[in-house]
Amino acid sequence: MKSYDSIIIGGGHNALVCANYLAKSGQKVLIIEALKKFGGLAVDREFFPGFRANTASALNQFSEKIASDLNLSSHGFNSKTDALKNIALDLSQNHVYINEDSVIGVSETDAQNFNQYKSLLKKFADVLKPFWLKSIPRLKNENIKDLLTFVEIGLKIRLMGKEDMREFLRVFSLPTRDLMDEFFDSDLLKAALSWDALIGSSQAPRSPNNSILTLLYRMSGKHQGHYYIPNGGIDSLIDALVSSAEEAGVEFMSETLVKEIIIENSQNGLKAIGVKTHNSEEIKADRIISGVDPKQTFINLVGAHNTEIEFSNRINRLRSNGYVAKFNLALSSLPSFMGLDSLRGRMLIAPTMDSIEFAWDDTKYGDYSQNPVLDMIVPTLFNPSMAPEGKHILSANIMYIPYQKKGGWSEEDKNELTEKIIDTISQYSTNIRDNILHSELLTPLDLETEFNLTGGHWHHGELALDQMLMMRPTYEAAQYRTPIDKLYLCSAGCHPGGGIMGAAGYNAAKEIIK
Ligand SMILES: Cc1cc2nc3c(=O)[nH]c(=O)nc-3n(C[C@H](O)[C@H](O)[C@H](O)COP(=O)(O)OP(=O)(O)OC[C@H]3O[C@@H](n4cnc5c(N)ncnc54)[C@H](O)[C@@H]3O)c2cc1C
Repeated sequence: MKSYDSIIIGGGHNALVCANYLAKSGQKVLIIEALKKFGGLAVDREFFPGFRANTASALNQFSEKIASDLNLSSHGFNSKTDALKNIALDLSQNHVYINEDSVIGVSETDAQNFNQYKSLLKKFADVLKPFWLKSIPRLKNENIKDLLTFVEIGLKIRLMGKEDMREFLRVFSLPTRDLMDEFFDSDLLKAALSWDALIGSSQAPRSPNNSILTLLYRMSGKHQGHYYIPNGGIDSLIDALVSSAEEAGVEFMSETLVKEIIIENSQNGLKAIGVKTHNSEEIKADRIISGVDPKQTFINLVGAHNTEIEFSNRINRLRSNGYVAKFNLALSSLPSFMGLDSLRGRMLIAPTMDSIEFAWDDTKYGDYSQNPVLDMIVPTLFNPSMAPEGKHILSANIMYIPYQKKGGWSEEDKNELTEKIIDTISQYSTNIRDNILHSELLTPLDLETEFNLTGGHWHHGELALDQMLMMRPTYEAAQYRTPIDKLYLCSAGCHPGGGIMGAAGYNAAKEIIK
């Protein structure tokens, strides 16, 4: 029977990154993926004959270090593309255009304040940036290298200078609304800048806690938080990760659902020794690395009977219900949006911060938003091969759509929500409805079913202060290790979190190779 140094469960981008580093260090690695194709939420799926869409449809923070370490450009990944401007759509066609370093369509005061806002947040994002590609040590740790990480964090913050340090400590836990109100007058601008602090979380503009930290996390990307679509689309990143892993000797098994992590008793307590697949095949390895979400890993694959009760309770209590739905349209031709010359940007429909807050209010009591807010792109403008010639797709993220709807999700609910979304977009585009050949709505529950992702959460678990850093996913399973010997984690459910970044996969590999 074949045996491996490492088996990675799930073939998302984090698993692919982890596999690359492990194989390059000399390990024999097998990745097992439930779906036909690798890439997780970044994979492209045909949602209507001839029309393909990725759930994660644009990049904003994929690590340049990983791209360069793995020489992904030699495998066809070309990230040298301009950032997408964010276009905050206005019903009176006074749209606001947000570029990396400037904003157009607002008062002179707002435009000047934008520069101040950007330079302040960029400074803060730069301080945090090195820590996303590092394991964050447990607090009670006597290892000198780990202690130095804490010293480094403290020092970086202190070296900003007294005023900036105070400002950083004040700002990072502010509700997004307060920060935006401090800087700007334009409702559209405030709502658009809030968006990346909130999307993927159960936070709205008035929520305190960590939304600014999430914004700073996203701003660590090469375009300061702006999205981009690489030449060749998101697929080119996934294809490059697969090709480089293949070159390093990684083996791939697709259309295979892992049903169980095989655990045995050893001198060190419980130890992971292999996996059992849906067709009862057992495959052994020296270590098992889970690239799937923490709840699935511990509750379904390890089994609560193999963990301490306190630990399984903690895992059960992880907040991992998603609030973002994916909405794809197959279009017969490029729609026009009122007052827009070009659709080469990320368009936002969220007129005010209150519109986002009200959308959240509906959802927190178990309904979906009656007036959804959304962002959308037309990926075929960057990668025409995603639709038949001359045709297009529109890909949108809708907030806030609960995983658990009061009374459960029915087809009627989904049809009603689909109509609401199309009505919302139609306020800005008079011909979109006539162009629709097909629509697809993936609620967080659908994302759970499609990708085996518990709760359908953007980050595999809420990115909140109590589920971050050395507490991600929980204190006992941080640093990519788990209470079970030889069982590791490498997905977005670990530090630093989700988004197509690769950091969790990278950090896990570094911990394993240590
Ligand atoms: C609606 C939505 C839109 C998003 N848009 C963006 C975006 O535009 N840009 C961005 O950067 N991020 C985006 N994200 C976030 C991003 O997609 C995720 O954070 C990221 O995909 C996590 O990567 P991962 O490799 O950790 O896990 P995943 O991408 O979730 O991959 C896990 C893989 O494991 C497989 N799997 C699960 N269980 C098993 C099992 N038992 N056996 C075998 N295989 C299994 C799954 O099929 C999947 O392929 C979005 C998220 C959502 C929900």
